[in-house]
Amino acid sequence: MSQPNLNTFSPATQQGKNRWQLPSLSKGSSVIVVGAGAFGGWTALNLLRRGLKVTLVDAWGPGNSRSSSGDETRVIRSTYGANETYFDLNVRALQLWKENEKSFKRQVFFNSGVLWLCYEEKTPLVDDSIPFAKKHGMEYRYLTTADIKRAYPFVNTDDLHHAWLDPFGGFLKARESCQAVAETFVREGGELWIDFVQPEKIVNGQLPGIKTAGGRMQRADTYVFACGAWLGNLFPECLGNTITCTKQEVYYFGVPSKNAEAYEKFPVWVDVDGKDFYYGIAGNSNRGFKIGVDRRGEPFDPTHGERVLDPKVLQHARQFIAHRFPELKHAPLVESRVCPYENSPDGNFIFDQHPEASNVFFLGGGSGHGFKHGPALGELVARVLLGEQRESPIFGSAR
Ligand SMILES: Cc1cc2nc3c(=O)[nH]c(=O)nc-3n(C[C@H](O)[C@H](O)[C@H](O)COP(=O)(O)OP(=O)(O)OC[C@H]3O[C@@H](n4cnc5c(N)ncnc54)[C@H](O)[C@@H]3O)c2cc1C
Repeated sequence: MSQPNLNTFSPATQQGKNRWQLPSLSKGSSVIVVGAGAFGGWTALNLLRRGLKVTLVDAWGPGNSRSSSGDETRVIRSTYGANETYFDLNVRALQLWKENEKSFKRQVFFNSGVLWLCYEEKTPLVDDSIPFAKKHGMEYRYLTTADIKRAYPFVNTDDLHHAWLDPFGGFLKARESCQAVAETFVREGGELWIDFVQPEKIVNGQLPGIKTAGGRMQRADTYVFACGAWLGNLFPECLGNTITCTKQEVYYFGVPSKNAEAYEKFPVWVDVDGKDFYYGIAGNSNRGFKIGVDRRGEPFDPTHGERVLDPKVLQHARQFIAHRFPELKHAPLVESRVCPYENSPDGNFIFDQHPEASNVFFLGGGSGHGFKHGPALGELVARVLLGEQRESPIFGSAR
């Protein structure tokens, strides 16, 4: 396995220059969005709600099992170290997730809180976000090890210094919310196809159209490719070295029946060990105590790769869980998932224009932390494409 890094939790901050030739889209212009994961689905819905004619196409359907968005749940947290851009993006996303539950007619956000388990007195990853939390009136609570033991007796605090509880975060239903976004999109007038898209050849600085494996051809004024881990293969000349796909595993362990309710209510947690960054979602429909490993796994083929666990990675996770949650030492594995990370070089998302086709845009590079931002990112993409705000240089693909 490659070395872990902080890209998931606090992507590098950088400066850049705007360089786009913005499209002149207006009400009634047509857009094809390829990919109905968290990024493409929300982008399609936002563009549709702004009066554009939108077709959303996904090879295997919204929140499918090959996609990064296809797991049961994803963490939603504002904490991003000193990176205020992502803190603010998450604040907006949180608001939009809640607002949109009305149109989904179901709950997809669960406000369990996020517990940061800290080893040292100073933990910049959390400490540096505290001023932003104050600014938004979303203050965290400091817990001593005695407080942790009292509230959550099944946590081993021996090597911890303290914890911070972010009471505003929690988790999202992942694949279910992709389906809810797509259903809402269709109900509000969008067109959804399940088909594999191939872009046509670029002519005179424009993409003339797309064709699909099912034999359909379609033209539009603008195209957004939100193809997750597939983006690098679809545009090898632009993104082949920029987006890399790694195999990531998540495990669901069965909790003891005597404490099932307490585990179900336990907040989302992140272990700030600086190495593996284990994190987990304890609750969610009694699926089991979920634990994820942020350490980057092996390179992975998102289309043909088999979703089979690596016994060594699982063994490592078991050792951690036995240490941090001793009661779960012999807990059985009741479910598991293998999901692809679609990594950008520094963890920043990618929202960029094709260098040779001004009507083509790339959206991706979620890098293990993109799901939660879907609604805010979709809103931002719509605003930029409609000329209401400039593109953000931090999302440029040249890194
Ligand atoms: C194990 C794991 C844990 C994670 N944990 C978190 C977390 O806790 N919180 C968080 O916010 N984020 C998390 N993430 C990251 C998050 O899940 C991703 O950043 C996000 O889901 C990316 O969404 P996407 O739409 O870009 O990609 P995807 O969900 O992969 O969607 C891309 C879609 O494009 C389609 N597609 C690809 N090529 C084509 C084509 N040629 N034609 C048609 N369709 C095509 C695919 O079928 C797919 O549905 C995690 C990721 C993983 C893997």
